[in-house]
Amino acid sequence: MLDQLDTLERQALASLESAQDDEALQRWKIAHLGRNSPLMKIFDQLGSLPKEERPPVGRRANQVKGALEAAFEAKNEALRQATLQQALQTERLDVSLPGRPPVLGRLHPNTITLRMIYRVLGDMGFQVFRSREVESDDYNFGLLNMPPHHPARDMWDTFHTTTPGVLLRTHTSPGQIHVMRLYAPEPIRVILPGMCYRYEQVSARKETQFNQVEGLAIGRHITMADLKGTLVDFSRRMFNQDVHIRFRASHFPFTEPSAEVDIECYLCGGKGCGVCAGSGWLEILGCGMVHPVVLRNGGYDPYKFSGFAFGIGPERVAMLRHRIEDIRYFWVNDMRFLEQF
Ligand SMILES: [Zn+2]
Repeated sequence: MLDQLDTLERQALASLESAQDDEALQRWKIAHLGRNSPLMKIFDQLGSLPKEERPPVGRRANQVKGALEAAFEAKNEALRQATLQQALQTERLDVSLPGRPPVLGRLHPNTITLRMIYRVLGDMGFQVFRSREVESDDYNFGLLNMPPHHPARDMWDTFHTTTPGVLLRTHTSPGQIHVMRLYAPEPIRVILPGMCYRYEQVSARKETQFNQVEGLAIGRHITMADLKGTLVDFSRRMFNQDVHIRFRASHFPFTEPSAEVDIECYLCGGKGCGVCAGSGWLEILGCGMVHPVVLRNGGYDPYKFSGFAFGIGPERVAMLRHRIEDIRYFWVNDMRFLEQF
């Protein structure tokens, strides 16, 4: 019986070698360590053996059982490791694959244009001065040389609040009075950017709210030549060095004299086309020398101080720079439009 146990052990260990997967391993376990395996049968027969044979056979049978169980565990672990290695090989993570980029937000074309204007005028020594969007009638009109019933008020259809005399500003010019009253009699060189509101019929060229950037310089001996030099330089930095500019006489109640500035049409080069309505010129801003009444309202003596002011429409500049045909695109939040900038 001891010989039988030796043979049994040898054969079991030999057949374990050929088990190459989990299924074969389980089959081997049932065949060699299961309830009906030859080894278990020997345990069953122990009782019928002669008394003196029982201890050595029993000992040997337990040895064989222990050896087979240990061999099974070792093989099981070896198979598990092999499977893991194979998985690591075949399902390897390729860290060299390019990542999926997150969708980045971008700046609104208005913001881009505003920042460009800030940079150009900032380089020229202008500081940003912010003022409120809700104004009194006095700041929006009266102090800017437009007393009640002044015909110039007809140029601006205004959003009035339920509080009499309080309105949404129609232009950034009220900021002129605020900044002058804050700094008088010091010299001033500021830009006043911000949102303006007008009660308009919305069209391809008109919106009820829009940005403006107003420029204001106050000091002694400031002349129209300073105004022209500043705006020519601004236009060249903003558009290009070769751009042609012209000043056209105009009228604003808060400047005297007043002018409008045109740049040569970028599409036709001045020959005349649909965009410039055949004129060859595109209007980009209004400007003028600060009216003595406005200077006085701001706290400056118009006999000692002078200044110039100009107002730019950033939407209009963006439309010119990017050939945008409809001002309504700026507010409709159409991604097809916004993603182009
Ligand atoms: Zn043109």
